[in-house]
Amino acid sequence: MFDVAILGGGPAGCAAGVYAARKQLNTIIITETFGGQSIVSPGIENWIGDQVIPGMELAKKLKEHVKKYEADDFVIKEGSRIEDVQKIDGGFKVITTGGEFEAKTVLVTTGSHRRKLPVPGADEFEHKGITYCASCDGPFFKDKDVVVVGGGNAGFESAAQLLAYCKSVTLLQRSDVYKADAVTVETVLAHENMTGVLNAKIKEVRGETMVSEIVYEVDGEEIVKPVGGVFVEIGAEPTTGYIKDLIELTPYGQVVTDPRNQKASLEGVWAAGDCTDGLYHQNNIAAGDAVKALEDIYLYIKAHS
Ligand SMILES: Cc1cc2nc3c(=O)[nH]c(=O)nc-3n(C[C@H](O)[C@H](O)[C@H](O)COP(=O)(O)OP(=O)(O)OC[C@H]3O[C@@H](n4cnc5c(N)ncnc54)[C@H](O)[C@@H]3O)c2cc1C
Repeated sequence: MFDVAILGGGPAGCAAGVYAARKQLNTIIITETFGGQSIVSPGIENWIGDQVIPGMELAKKLKEHVKKYEADDFVIKEGSRIEDVQKIDGGFKVITTGGEFEAKTVLVTTGSHRRKLPVPGADEFEHKGITYCASCDGPFFKDKDVVVVGGGNAGFESAAQLLAYCKSVTLLQRSDVYKADAVTVETVLAHENMTGVLNAKIKEVRGETMVSEIVYEVDGEEIVKPVGGVFVEIGAEPTTGYIKDLIELTPYGQVVTDPRNQKASLEGVWAAGDCTDGLYHQNNIAAGDAVKALEDIYLYIKAHS
C-alpha cells in the first residue's frame, strides 16, 4: 500500500509529487497527461521564475521534475484514467483504466475541464467545426465567419485572437450583460469585423460533415446563422465525478477543503488546485496549495505509522 496516491499531473499534482519524493513518502502519481490546462497557452507570463513560458514548455518541465524521482517507491502511472476511489481498510483503492492501486492517503488534483455546449449537434460536430480552444485551433478557421459562445473574459479573448485571421466574429452571450472586463468588451467590440449579441439562447448546431449553421433565439425570434466554426467559452467544471460519493462537493462539483491544510471532508483525503472550492484558480495557487496538502499528508503518515 502506497503512503499517498496523487491523482492528476498538472501544476498541483507535480508540485505535490516533488515534495512527496523529497520527503521519501512511498508515492504513486496517477494521471492521464502531465502539464495541466495551460498547456495550450502560447505564453504564460505569471509562472514565477519564468518571465514568459509556452504552456507546452511548462508541461515538459513539470514532467521532467517529477520523472527525476521515478523509482520503486515513487511510481508514475501516466496515461491512465481514474474512474473510482473507494474506501478500504487502512486507506483507499483507486480504480483506473490501467489497474487498481491502494494508498493510505489520497490527494485529489485532477483540476477541471471545459464545459460542453449543451445543445443538439454539439457532440456530433466537436472537432468538426466546434472547438473549445481558439489559441489551438483558430488558425484552421482563416477567412471564415465564426461564432464565439460566451461573453466572459475567455470569450472576448478568444474573439480578439480570431479577429486576426477570421472574416468575421460574432459573439453570442446568453444573458443581458457581458461578463468580461469593461475595457476588453469595449476594445473587442470596436473592431469592424466583430458583432456582439446579448440574450442569445443557443438552440442547435447543424451541418453535414462539418458544422455549417448555428441556431439561436433572441427575444423569441429564431435566427439561423451560417458559420464556418463555433468556439465555445462557457466556463469549466471540476473533474471530481469519480470521487463524488466519498467526499463533500459543492453544488458545482468542487471539493470542499479546509484552506489551512487542504483537507477534504473525509479523513485521509486532501485536494488542491482547480478541483477545489478555493476562490482563485491559477498555476501558482494550484502548486502552492498542493505543497500545503503534502506537508499535512506527511504529518498524517508519520502520526499513523
Ligand atoms: C487556456 C488556459 C490558459 C491559462 N493560462 C494561465 C496562465 O497564464 N497563468 C495561470 O496561472 N493560470 C492559467 N490558467 C489556469 C491554470 O491552467 C490552472 O489554474 C491550473 O492548470 C490548475 O492546475 P491543477 O493542477 O489544479 O489542474 P489541471 O491543470 O486541470 O491538471 C489536472 C491534471 O489531472 C489529470 N486528470 C484529470 N482528470 C483525470 C482522470 N480522471 N484520471 C487521470 N488523470 C486525470 C489531467 O490529465 C491533468 O494532468 C489557464 C487555463 C487555461 C484553460
